[in-house]
Amino acid sequence: MDKTGSHPQDDAQGEALRAPRYTDAPERIRGLPVDHRGFPVPFFAAWIDGKPDHRVVDRARLGPAVLKDLCWICGEPLAGDRAYVMGPTSAFNRVTTEPASHWDCGCFAASACPFLTRPRMRRSHKGLEAAEVTPPGGMAEHNPGVCVVWATPAFRPTLHRDGKTRLYEIGDPTRVAWFREGRPATRAEVIEALDEVIDTYRPRVAAAGPAAAEQLARYTDRVLALAPAPP
Ligand SMILES: [Zn+2]
Repeated sequence: MDKTGSHPQDDAQGEALRAPRYTDAPERIRGLPVDHRGFPVPFFAAWIDGKPDHRVVDRARLGPAVLKDLCWICGEPLAGDRAYVMGPTSAFNRVTTEPASHWDCGCFAASACPFLTRPRMRRSHKGLEAAEVTPPGGMAEHNPGVCVVWATPAFRPTLHRDGKTRLYEIGDPTRVAWFREGRPATRAEVIEALDEVIDTYRPRVAAAGPAAAEQLARYTDRVLALAPAPP
């Protein structure tokens, strides 16, 4: 049984839950309900038995977000830069699992979301065995530590080879902002994270031949060019 209920912000009951915690948050974020810890509850989060769970995407929100072009984090119509909050693997292969957000909403999430700001925090899946778990930053089970907010007008919805998972192929960024533990990431941290990603591709590329090696080199160059400038 799907225990996902309606969102409190959809009815008058939700008004009582609205309370600013992050006074420097973008205005759209300050309009979101907050959970018991005071964290704003993003648009995509499912409400289970009356409580929000940031780890679970409410699939009923995916359709409206895509069809009405709503911010995945605040739920308001997108305007200006379309931004994607992603891990380093997505920066490398330019494929992500989550719809776009406002640039400032994405930067806020990268600064405040516990799963993106605490690399050593393990995601608990307790009680989520039957639920679809799509944590912020994509499908990877590990916490990447470094994440990027990637603004681009170029995107193309596609499907994962499992035939079910919606993906977005994204184009050249108009701007990027790298974060680690809720603060701007250094060039060294970004390059270390990207090196880890690139290393995971090396065995497959070595087996696949020269064309794959050439592609790996090209992808490596293009992503390293987006790392923060040296101090
Ligand atoms: Zn937003």
